[in-house]
Amino acid sequence: MIMPGSDEKNSPWLDLQLLNRLPADLRESRPEASLAHFRVRLLKRTIEHAIGRSPHYRRQMEAAGAALEILTAVKTHDDASTVERLIQAALACLPFTRPDELAAAPDDFLAVSQTEVEGVISLPSSGSTGPVKRVYSSASDLESTVDFFFHGMRGLVSLKNGDRAALMMSGDRPGSVGDLLSRAMARLRIPMMLAGFPPQEAGSRPTWLKKLIDWRPSCLVGLPRQVLELSRCRLAASLSPGLRTILLSGDVVAESARRHLADALTAEVFIHYGLTEFGLGGAVECRERLGPHLREADLLVEIIGPDGRTVNEAGRRGEIVITSLTRQAMPLLRYRTGDEGAFAPGPCACGSIMRRLLTFGRLADRISLADGRHLGLSDFEEALLPLPFVRWFELTLHEDGLRPYLVLAASLAEPPPANALDLIAKALSGLSGLHPAANLEKTFPSALLPLLVTIADDSRKRNMTGKQTLKKASPT
Ligand SMILES: [Zn+2]
Repeated sequence: MIMPGSDEKNSPWLDLQLLNRLPADLRESRPEASLAHFRVRLLKRTIEHAIGRSPHYRRQMEAAGAALEILTAVKTHDDASTVERLIQAALACLPFTRPDELAAAPDDFLAVSQTEVEGVISLPSSGSTGPVKRVYSSASDLESTVDFFFHGMRGLVSLKNGDRAALMMSGDRPGSVGDLLSRAMARLRIPMMLAGFPPQEAGSRPTWLKKLIDWRPSCLVGLPRQVLELSRCRLAASLSPGLRTILLSGDVVAESARRHLADALTAEVFIHYGLTEFGLGGAVECRERLGPHLREADLLVEIIGPDGRTVNEAGRRGEIVITSLTRQAMPLLRYRTGDEGAFAPGPCACGSIMRRLLTFGRLADRISLADGRHLGLSDFEEALLPLPFVRWFELTLHEDGLRPYLVLAASLAEPPPANALDLIAKALSGLSGLHPAANLEKTFPSALLPLLVTIADDSRKRNMTGKQTLKKASPT
């Protein structure tokens, strides 16, 4: 026995993936120490690779030198907490990498030759008008994600149960979620359907849904908003008899949304967190479903407070900052994700040594209230969840006049109730700090942020990704 409980039957699933990768000389110590020492080696290799091959990081030679010096001082007998402290000290020497730097010059981050690039994903940076971020992957980067999906999905599907999966995305491009998850499922010998997005036109939705029902998936993977919308179609009840698990990815999931989906589709709902910049796979929940376990042998996650210092103590919220440990084509050091998160407190009952990361949405998608509190998009989602006729909404914060105000434009299912706007305003009145109304003729208490509820312009309908959006109107 190399690590306690390390055989395939007993080992927590992500820990087994770690065990398969550990170098022989690290297999003798305690699992936490093995992981910590392994992270030191991977981080050293990543920093050396980044400054050696990527033009962007080559400019940070001095900072990298200081970080490497700290990592080199780690002793083989150092315990896990000492090693983790040294890793933090080494990281603190390095500057942050900002998403706008990546968007402005993606090729500056490339650390392999173009011929070694196997997958390219383009994604919009903040706002729809900004430059497009390009993320490159090598064959080994793609394989690393497939291996993570392979291990992560073992908690949701099993060949023995005759499971079948459906992904509410397409898989037409190499390196896309659909492509990588398909490869992982093929390894697990689980049949998977790439169902694509549910069509926006209500008329063609039954055809799409019927195809999905005919596939009889026991596991469904999709964006929270898509699956929520699916759960509200009358035909979706036909999915329930065979459906056992749902994996939500790509957006923050309110606990009430998780409960709603579990009830509506009679399935266990799991959460995945991942970023394109880090190969899509990031963290996934175990059977306990108490927050996604990080793939800590591939990603070094820090939580950063507003002053730029780490606040890694469990429960403390801050910006999620990630350093890749194994990515070849585009290593990223201390990348500011713009997402708010916190490490979950305490060990998980599943026994995994991989910490859990709780996420709370985009920091830019928060609205600051006069009393210093913040409201996130998920707060609005949660408030509107009980109203099935609200299909999607867009929030716009106007700060260009004398007094800031919010506009919530809702896209409604046909036919909406006659008093839909009043019902929405009433549901939102539960959010303290806001004064929602269906018209702005009324006077508003000055301590509250006025919120005008309207119906979304039909031409905009809903964004293709199924994500909620917050726009901030620029001052004129
Ligand atoms: Zn767990």
